[in-house]
Amino acid sequence: MHHLVIGTGPAGVVAAETLRKLDPDSTITLLGNEPEAPYSRMAIPYYLINNIRSEGTHLRKDSEHFASLRIDLRQGCVERIDTASQRAILQDASEIPYDRLLLATGSTPTRPPIEGMDLPGVHSCWTLEDARAIIAGAQQGSRVVLMGAGFIGCIILEALARRGVDLTVVEMENRMVPRMMNEHTGGLIKTWCEQQGVRVLTSTRVNGITRAGAEDGLVGMTQRIVAGQARTDDGALRVALNSHDDIIADLVICATGVKPNVRCAAGLDTDHGILVNEYLESSATHVYAAGDCCQGRDFSTGQYSVQAIQPTAAEHARVAATNMVAARSHKHRGCLNMNVLDTMGLISASMGAWEGVEGGDTALVRDDARFKYLELQFADDVLVGANSLGFTQHVGVLRGLIQTQTPLGAWKDTLMRDPTRIMEAYLACAQPAVARSPA
Ligand SMILES: Cc1cc2nc3c(=O)[nH]c(=O)nc-3n(C[C@H](O)[C@H](O)[C@H](O)COP(=O)(O)OP(=O)(O)OC[C@H]3O[C@@H](n4cnc5c(N)ncnc54)[C@H](O)[C@@H]3O)c2cc1C
Repeated sequence: MHHLVIGTGPAGVVAAETLRKLDPDSTITLLGNEPEAPYSRMAIPYYLINNIRSEGTHLRKDSEHFASLRIDLRQGCVERIDTASQRAILQDASEIPYDRLLLATGSTPTRPPIEGMDLPGVHSCWTLEDARAIIAGAQQGSRVVLMGAGFIGCIILEALARRGVDLTVVEMENRMVPRMMNEHTGGLIKTWCEQQGVRVLTSTRVNGITRAGAEDGLVGMTQRIVAGQARTDDGALRVALNSHDDIIADLVICATGVKPNVRCAAGLDTDHGILVNEYLESSATHVYAAGDCCQGRDFSTGQYSVQAIQPTAAEHARVAATNMVAARSHKHRGCLNMNVLDTMGLISASMGAWEGVEGGDTALVRDDARFKYLELQFADDVLVGANSLGFTQHVGVLRGLIQTQTPLGAWKDTLMRDPTRIMEAYLACAQPAVARSPA
């Protein structure tokens, strides 16, 4: 049996390892198109702030790891797959036959269709190569514009702020992390960042980027002293906004979203990502999908959607690999959509049906002055979602209660009055031997 895994991110790596565990005699090929050892994008922020070197991002630190598992790790870019003859066709026209194929091709950053996105000094922050360019350009005191304050944008924001740059964040929605936090909490995160010296422009669009020219009185003329060193503005960029004055920047980082890599899945059923069933099988026989490229089942809604987060990639990978070895042996019950974010020391979290469900109840406690907010969403007496700010100790408990769908009984009314008693509710309800009724 030959298992071919395309993509060397967390989904591909976890799948290859799971395949080896479950199918010791098989041949496994793990193919990626980045000139790096398999690495975790999640670790890039630590690299940006010099907490780790680039090797620290590698998913497996031992250079012999894949060879020792008899996983053939290769480089090459798959152009298309031929599902009739069960072959992957690479850009260099070579072919790799497979018995079972996993598409774990991840996603690619999107860029808005505006002038100047291809100028030097404009980068995404998605790959290690991007990170190297950002490290070179984002020195202490550099003027940096960050386009997008979504989940990934806010992660990058934290790292940039720690690099000591002069940072402006431009977000077209009316708040930060709009797909993760409501208007109120997104607004609180903005206030928090502003208090730490970051300029945040919400409800603002970048209209275009140009090289700052002589007409700006800049190129080769203006000298600034940054971190004790004289710098000219040669190479500076002019960022035009729809509702504010233009900004002169040394570096622009675009974090306006990602889209699943489905190009080599041409011929398969796709929507936003590659469509799969509850076994993570695609519409083609013996072809599976996992991770950011896959439109898998959401635990909370039961619907199929793309969840571009690493825990989902790893869970998909385990389930898909299990079914590649023993067809339809493991049903996927869905991944919990969950994001936890540290924005300059302010921890926010959203999970499950954080915006509530029809006919459900909402419990809320907040203290804006202390940047604290906890909102719980219930369906009957079951916790189905949560949104929090500044409540770090409750994240695991919230997740546990949502995933186990534990009936809270009388504790539900207690939580409606005081959501901060969630830990007590968890301990009481998760351990039935302990008294279940709240005091
Ligand atoms: C800066 C940053 C911070 C992040 N922080 C978090 C976080 O805190 N928490 C979290 O949950 N998630 C985080 N993420 C998101 C997380 O990294 C992704 O959800 C995760 O990488 C998805 O894993 P994957 O294996 O599906 O895809 P990827 O990691 O994108 O890997 C896909 C691989 O497939 C390769 N590939 C694509 N097409 C082809 C082809 N045609 N042929 C061969 N190879 C191909 C790609 O080059 C890539 O190596 C972060 C992402 C970034 C960029």
